[in-house]
Amino acid sequence: MQRITVARGDGIGPEIMEATLKILKAAGAELEIDEIEVGEKVYLSGNTSGIAKDAWDIIRKNKIFLKAPITTPQGGGYKSLNVTTRKFLGLYANVRPCMSLHPFVQTKHPKMDLIIIRENEEDLYAGIEHQQTDEVVQCLKLISRPGCEKIIRYAFEYARQYGRKKVTCFTKDNIMKQTDGLFHKVFDEIAPLYPDIQHEHWIIDIGAAKLADTPEAFDVIVMPNLYGDILSDVAAQIAGSVGLAGSANIGEECAMFEAIHGSAPRIAGQDKANPSGLLHGAILMLAHIGQTDIAENIENAWLKTIEDGLHTYDIYKEGTSKEKLGTQAFADAVISNLGKKPIALKEVIYNKNITLQLPAYKRKEQAQKELVGVDVFVHWRETNANELAVLMKKIELPNIKLSMITNRGIKVWPDGFRETFCTDHWRCRFKPIAGEKITKEHIIALLQNSISENIDTIKTENLYAFNGIEAFSLGQGQ
Ligand code: NAD
Repeated sequence: MQRITVARGDGIGPEIMEATLKILKAAGAELEIDEIEVGEKVYLSGNTSGIAKDAWDIIRKNKIFLKAPITTPQGGGYKSLNVTTRKFLGLYANVRPCMSLHPFVQTKHPKMDLIIIRENEEDLYAGIEHQQTDEVVQCLKLISRPGCEKIIRYAFEYARQYGRKKVTCFTKDNIMKQTDGLFHKVFDEIAPLYPDIQHEHWIIDIGAAKLADTPEAFDVIVMPNLYGDILSDVAAQIAGSVGLAGSANIGEECAMFEAIHGSAPRIAGQDKANPSGLLHGAILMLAHIGQTDIAENIENAWLKTIEDGLHTYDIYKEGTSKEKLGTQAFADAVISNLGKKPIALKEVIYNKNITLQLPAYKRKEQAQKELVGVDVFVHWRETNANELAVLMKKIELPNIKLSMITNRGIKVWPDGFRETFCTDHWRCRFKPIAGEKITKEHIIALLQNSISENIDTIKTENLYAFNGIEAFSLGQGQ
């Protein structure tokens, strides 16, 4: 018996949760349920996080959370409960199966059957943003080795346990050599530990085009947070079933399961909504907690219901569908198909002993880290980089000299192009002359000099070499 936390949510949430729980019960899922209140009512009572402290206590105690969609009120500084939950509970993996149900649900891709595994905590979603000058704002893209190792291991383990043949990695490491480069490097390190699973890497742009055009070329795809956020919606949509998809958010201790759609307030309370997205979230939950027989039974009954042409309004189509059902009647139809298998659609068979082998992260030996330079970022409203170079040379130290200026990453000094458009945000790189070393005291002296020269420095970034390899980007064109 597994104790889980359930939130019925807002809008269509309560109806689709009712339908889902009814199916879980009829299928004999061994669950004990604690219900909590999250969402609109909690937000509007003045709690900007949408969840009370005692609800957190229950979620953390039970560790497994089945959540219906909630309504985040517009404006007013309300924080997204989903993002908060993922970060607080360390739910690092977002898993979204995208399968077409041709010919019962319309799609241009009848053979599509893939799983998107998205890193869920890092990347541009760390939410560290700053305005730095009148014209320029920045967002920090943070990628960590433990973050990469956890998600990539999860993808390979998932593939092995769920009988998938190939894991594909999408990154843009031809441009982001450090951040996406690390993700790709860790993928290349971990892939050989799974010789039974094929692996490949695609640059995200052509990979995304291929995914939209020929999704059957992919099996499991793993990627950093932002790409995964976008492409998991694209994949669900082209499977023809954005309203049917569920997702799992997996952490080392806790996990949250949900539908991918929102609370659809316009159709709330009318017994119209399709409960399939949340039901798929629940099926992922059952597999995760080891109740694979029940997960399999429900999924096969659901596939049978879909191929019987018993459809809710959102997928109902004259000619293909047989009967248009409401939320609860659809749930009853799934229940009456328990124990049956689909005929035209492919039957689902789960490995009965799913045990994901996810070793705890082990920190690597510390590298030899050497300071080799500094980038001083400057707010300067003129446009001629040669003039800025004259100014910046005034803050040089005897052994630490200006080596380059870039604007939005493009080298504008020395030997810049007159045509390059420049904003008011400049990166001035200082490096020691040959045979000399730079220290943090030098950086402070550079900043001190810039105050004396009335130069508006915004920030500095230290330039390091790790084990002798310089670990920072060059200027574009350098
Ligand atoms: P939505 O997903 O709620 O609705 C988009 C469209 O899909 C609507 O036309 C709706 O009628 C239809 N739809 C969605 N689910 C359906 C279902 N189960 N059956 C039939 N039709 C369905 O997106 P939205 O309208 O942009 O957002 C509504 C609210 O949901 C917002 O407050 C938003 O913040 C919230 N939201 C919550 C979550 C979540 O809790 N995970 C996710 C997305 C949006």
